Amino acid sequence: MSQIGVVSDIHGNLPALEAVLNSLEKSRVERIFCCGDIVGYGPWPGLCVRRIREANPLCVQGNHDAAACARLPFDHFTPSAQLVIKWTTAHISNKETIYLKELPAIHTEDNLVMVHGSLRGPLWEYISDRWVATENFSLFNRPLALFGHSHIQGGFVSLEGKVDLLRPTKEPLKLAPEAKYLINPGSVGQPRDGDPRAAYAVVDLLNREVHFKRISYDINMIKKRILREGLPRDLGDRLSLGR
Ligand code: ZN
Repeated sequence: MSQIGVVSDIHGNLPALEAVLNSLEKSRVERIFCCGDIVGYGPWPGLCVRRIREANPLCVQGNHDAAACARLPFDHFTPSAQLVIKWTTAHISNKETIYLKELPAIHTEDNLVMVHGSLRGPLWEYISDRWVATENFSLFNRPLALFGHSHIQGGFVSLEGKVDLLRPTKEPLKLAPEAKYLINPGSVGQPRDGDPRAAYAVVDLLNREVHFKRISYDINMIKKRILREGLPRDLGDRLSLGR
């Protein structure tokens, strides 16, 4: 397995997911990895679970996935997130609920590990600064960890005891053999880094490169659907801003 597609934080946004998976299928990645949060916020939770299953990814459970199948209490979610989780629970089938329930918290293989939030707190911790990243680097002994949850594309590198922030660039990121990496592909369905386009990544394990990718999709389509389903308007508005 050399080229893998990495997606995360889809959040029930079907047009964004379709755009990303179509692009990954065209670029012939061998496997898809999904860092969780297939549902929550967006109006197509069931269709997103089905579309993801068709792509047959290696997938871990996100906090919204866990809440939608009653494996996590709602208390820590914002009021609008809680509202959509309740709506999601009522709008997914038994089969889809079981799929979300059975997702593991951590996936590990020879050269990588994958979680939703962090190694220390797979469902709840955000790796959003160098200090939290440093603590998490000490918890895995693979060259690469994939994570999501923050909806911010990029990650962190640990080299000779020093941890630095990685921002996505147009040029592929070259992975140094002596370093360890935490890589976030960004959010497919609700980016929060100021770029409204759907985010994902392609990791070339053979050539040791990470390609951070963005792709446009029909944001108006999801904004209209959010209103038609009676979900909070701000969940559509934030998609136009990428915040
Ligand atoms: Zn998320």
